[in-house]
Amino acid sequence: TRSGAVLRVPPLSKLLHESLAASYDVLDLPSEGRAAFLAEHGGDVVAIACTNSGRVDAELIGALPRLQVVVNQGVGYENVDVDACLERGILVSHTPDVLDDAVAETTLGLLIATRRRLVEADAFVRDGRWADGQFPLTGQVSGSRVGILGLGRIGRRIAGVLEALGCEISYHNRRRVPGVPYAYAGSPTELAAAVDNLVVVVPGGSATAALVDRDVLDALGPDGVLVNVARGSVVDEPALVAALQEGRLGAAGLDVYAEEPHVPQALRALGNVVLLPHVGSATVRTRTAMADLTLANLALWWESGRLQTPVPEMAALSS
Ligand code: NDP
Repeated sequence: TRSGAVLRVPPLSKLLHESLAASYDVLDLPSEGRAAFLAEHGGDVVAIACTNSGRVDAELIGALPRLQVVVNQGVGYENVDVDACLERGILVSHTPDVLDDAVAETTLGLLIATRRRLVEADAFVRDGRWADGQFPLTGQVSGSRVGILGLGRIGRRIAGVLEALGCEISYHNRRRVPGVPYAYAGSPTELAAAVDNLVVVVPGGSATAALVDRDVLDALGPDGVLVNVARGSVVDEPALVAALQEGRLGAAGLDVYAEEPHVPQALRALGNVVLLPHVGSATVRTRTAMADLTLANLALWWESGRLQTPVPEMAALSS
């Protein structure tokens, strides 16, 4: 049997935080006095539990000589320095699939709220403006052309939901997806030019930084809607703000931002945006499933040294 401690890297959900303590020796990474803490306890840590808001960088990994596994709650894991882990044979897991429904639902809600101006319409009623006249007519999602930038697990779920609304779906990935009935676009700009609404759901990290730039936004155009549920890093945020201010882009529905929880004042001041606080997967049912899968990975590793849902890069370790 294994011995050693599980390092809890904040923030963790209450469920994950407490469940870890029930089954393992735990340590908590402090926000202050970290160097002294690691000098004293770093040698005890064999596992890390984190969410994708907790950084597990090369410096932290380097201070943990016995670290063998990182279990991350969240499907995105750009918070973990996977290259540094690979160098030492440290395994990393994430939580794919279990959040697809919740994120697809958030995306649909954001797209409809933005296109139909539901948040503005709510304020119109609350502010007593209805008696002065009708709310303006809006666009419509049903039957529109939707481009999906990132037709992966979540993207395909979103496409399925939108198909039921009679939308015409097209997509861009680096590679074509075999066997799907959707049109492929050769670049993000080509995709944006062909659709009314662009949904962004690629992974974050350096490979997709500012993938949605001024060219893509201009291709989407003054009647276009951008919905970003991926990562703030994927969209050039200053270019987005400028396009919205200048009317070169119609509207945007956003769940993610460049520097969360900071949302630029210029964005918050705009009427043609719907802004959510990174709640794509944030339902009780889905967050419970994500915590359970994170714990299942740790339990399996503890028993057998294997992971249930390793990140794709781990394939390089077994080959
Ligand atoms: P998948 O890995 O299943 O899908 C990602 C898709 O993006 C793939 O189809 C991939 O295709 C495509 N892609 C990757 N890199 C590029 C690129 N450089 N250019 C174009 N396409 C690219 O991931 P999931 O669907 O499970 O999750 C997607 C992302 O959604 C997560 O990584 C996370 O960042 C975000 N997310 C956000 C949440 C929220 O709360 N807002 C919640 C959950 C996830 P190919 O490799 O062929 O390019």
